Amino acid sequence: MHPLAYERLKRVLNDKKLVGPDEMCEYYPCHFHGQDCTWCFCPFYPCEDEQTGGEWVLKKDGGHIWGCSDCFWIHKSEVAKELWRALRRFGIARVEDIEERKEDMKKIFSALKEKYPPD
Ligand code: SF4
Repeated sequence: MHPLAYERLKRVLNDKKLVGPDEMCEYYPCHFHGQDCTWCFCPFYPCEDEQTGGEWVLKKDGGHIWGCSDCFWIHKSEVAKELWRALRRFGIARVEDIEERKEDMKKIFSALKEKYPPD
């Protein structure tokens, strides 16, 4: 995991609350007005699921990287909130849990998509 993602997720998990729209962020709104910024660094990254709006992007060196610019899904308040609840239900409280419990994260992702299908 990228160090920035680690630090951001650690702060979110420690604070134990949703961020909501972060209007103080210089990039706000990077997706849409009113977006929930809690999962700015997504715990599912890289989900590799284009139904979310994410996609593989070609890099200058010819490789590919998973891009989330067009994923609005994780920033919808009901999705952000439900993800919080799901992490709590599964007892995922540390960034290390996110990294180590891949199967549980996949289950959470699938259940979240089923409950709140991406547009
Ligand atoms: S595309 Fe959306 S759900 Fe998938 S990793 Fe990126 S932000 Fe997360």
